[in-house]
Amino acid sequence: MSRHACTDPKHHVHGAADFVAAVEAACHARGLRLTPVRARVLGLVADAGRPVKAYDLLEMLKPTAADEEGVGAAAPPTVYRALDFLLANGFIHKLESVNAFVACHHPSTAQHSVPFLICDRCHSAVELEDRAVVAALDERARALGFVPQAQTLEVHGLCARCSG
Ligand SMILES: [Zn+2]
Ligand SMILES: [Zn+2]
Repeated sequence: MSRHACTDPKHHVHGAADFVAAVEAACHARGLRLTPVRARVLGLVADAGRPVKAYDLLEMLKPTAADEEGVGAAAPPTVYRALDFLLANGFIHKLESVNAFVACHHPSTAQHSVPFLICDRCHSAVELEDRAVVAALDERARALGFVPQAQTLEVHGLCARCSG
């Protein structure tokens, strides 16, 4: 489990194919199966370059006239199941406040809590990779006798490019 401090917001956006290949390797190492439809959904999320809604994914996976055989098309329940798999294994994150999905920067780690910085102008979303933030919240909650099970940390504002 290698961790790297990634501060480049475009890190996971450059080359969806590379990202899918990395997840495929992670799946193999963890005894998981990245089926073609899971790989396709993952590729679309990574390729979007910004948070993408389930509805948009369904649109992208709809059979088209040029795709009569339905190759590459997937029924909604299949798409939702693929998203569940990718979420449960930490390959993508769900941004609750905008109800959309983004690819994870570090697919070789298991599901993890990360704060997200979401730009309200260009709709980019960046993982704030700082264990200290997550650990501090966890610690404060436990000090109050609260047992945290899920953290949704989403900070809205303007990214450096949009505010500059
Ligand atoms: Zn992540
Ligand atoms: Zn922005």
